[in-house]
Parts: sequence; C-alpha cells; structure tokens
Amino acid sequence: LQSKVTAQADKPSITLDGKRISLLVNAGLSANVEMEQFLQGDGVGLYRTEIPFMMRERFPSEQEQYALYHRLLSAHPSKEITMRTLDVGGDKPLSYFPIVEDNPFLGWRGIRLTLDHPDIFLVQVRAMLRASIGLSNLHILLPMISCISEVVEAKRLIKQAFLEVKEDACDQGKLLSKPAVGVMLEVPAVIFQIEQLAQHVDFFSVGTNDLTQYLLAVDRNNPRVSSLYSSYHPSVLNALQQIVTKSNKANIPVTVCGELAGEPAGAVILLAMGYRKLSMNAHSLRKINWVLRNTDISHMQGFLNVLLRQDTQQDVISLINDYLETKQ
Ligand code: PEP
Ligand code: MG
Repeated sequence: LQSKVTAQADKPSITLDGKRISLLVNAGLSANVEMEQFLQGDGVGLYRTEIPFMMRERFPSEQEQYALYHRLLSAHPSKEITMRTLDVGGDKPLSYFPIVEDNPFLGWRGIRLTLDHPDIFLVQVRAMLRASIGLSNLHILLPMISCISEVVEAKRLIKQAFLEVKEDACDQGKLLSKPAVGVMLEVPAVIFQIEQLAQHVDFFSVGTNDLTQYLLAVDRNNPRVSSLYSSYHPSVLNALQQIVTKSNKANIPVTVCGELAGEPAGAVILLAMGYRKLSMNAHSLRKINWVLRNTDISHMQGFLNVLLRQDTQQDVISLINDYLETKQ
C-alpha cells in the first residue's frame, strides 16, 4: 500500500466516479516542513492558533500574532486558510492563565473564555485581519459554539476589529477583504440549530473529536473509558449524516476537521454521506488522496444505510473494514 500511496501522492483528489474532493490540512506548529506539506493540500482547514499560545510563557502580542498569521496567509494566497480563534481550556491549558474548575471539558473553554475576555479576542482577530491586508484567503472559525448568541456577539467583535483595521489599511492605500466567518460544529446542541446558524455564518467545520466526546459523554483523554470513545458509534455517524444533509440544504459549505477525516474508513464513510471537504494532519494527506482515488462514492452510498443501522461501533468497524478490503 505504501508504494502505491507514494506513487499517486500528487494526483488530483478525484474519486473513481468523478467527484472532486477538497483535502485540507490541520495545522498548529509553524515548522517549515509543515509549511511545505500545506502546499500539497487545497488549503488549511484548521489552524489551531492555541498551539503557539501554549508554547509561550505569556500571551503573544498583537505584533507577534500578526507575524505568525501573515506568514501563513501570504505563503498560500490562492488557498483558503481557516484560522480558529483561541480554543484553550478543557485539555489545553495556558501556564500563564491558569483555570481551576470542576469538569473543565464542560467549563470555560474556547469561545466562552474569549467572549468573557473580549480584549484577548479583539487582539487576536485584529492580528488576523491585519495579516490579511491585500489578501482574500482568511477564514475565521469560532470554537465550542453552543448557542446563537455566542455567534452574534463574536461577529459583533469581529466587525469592530474589521472597522479598526480597515481604517489603517485605507490610510496605507491598501484593501482589506471581509473574512469568511464560520463555526465549529462540535457541541451536540448546535446540530439541532443548523438552519438558524446558517443565517449567521459562511461555513461550518465539524469537530468529530469533541462531537464524539460530548455525544457519548466520554472524556476523549481518559484511558479508563477509552473503549467507549469511538467516532464509529452509530449515533455519532447518524449525527454526522444529519449535519451534512442539513448544511447542504442550507447551502452552507461544511468541512470535517476531526481525526475521523484522516482515517481511511472514516473518510470513505464521510464521502458516502455527502461531505466533499476533509481536513486532516499533513501526514494523512497522501493516504487519504490514494483512498479516495480508489473509491466509488455512488457504490458506497447503498452500503452506508447498512452501516447507519448497526447496533455497535464494533459492527460498523468490522463491516467497513471488510468492505475496504474487498474493494481496494
Ligand atoms: C475537534 O474537536 O474535532 C477538533 C478538530 O478540535 P480539537 O481537536 O482541537 O478540539
Ligand atoms: Mg474541538
């Protein structure tokens, strides 16, 4: 398999039945290797901005953030670059901003924290917008959204930052494009508000890591319950099916950026459901490119209904593995 994967690495991501799939990269560390790997994909589907924050001993200044973001946006001006606003809390601590609370995964995480500290949010969004002056590839993604009012408030702050940066850009005779604004679908509640969310945002990104954790009530990092944590649980798969069906109906582009998108079995299931944009770690790109070039989505669609009706994740996994082995 490895030699086939390498040989076909840079071929276009088109399935056997002719469907073009966007393969994007999940990023966080800004090592050069990673920058080169980005070139292989169709863009960055998820830039985890908290990682550079976690690697420092204090909040990075607006100028420091600007430098990081500008490097990424300007390196790939024709590719979409999706930058997620700070997603700390839960399992992602900042040494210089300690949070002590019971149940951190249900607590002060992601957008909840930054909306309570609009100063942190505004500095970050201003840095992103300044970095995008003269470019038009910035997408801003909001993490851990659980209700519409969070989206409305975050958009109000983004607009405020936009007007400030636009004034500076105008003074320099340069253009500032409006960024696309999207939300992570990773808290189960929002699956039932997709139509309403669609009125407020330009795109969705499905975080299967957290969506699985919250749907199954299983801590994603607790080894005691790790056998219960699976994105192949039939309920998780049915939720993912609902999301893509509703997003397509609302005409809102939707990407999957959780780990599932970078697994061959997961990617094939997602394609059969109707997803056409998958974002993954750079090292999975070649493998998934090969898998989808050898997948007939229309054939897989009939089989999907069988998968969605299984009783257990084990049943799903053994059926999909049998299917992949006989087809490829
Ligand atoms: C997710 O939850 O699936 C996701 C992509 O975000 P993170 O893993 O950074 O929480
Ligand atoms: Mg998440």
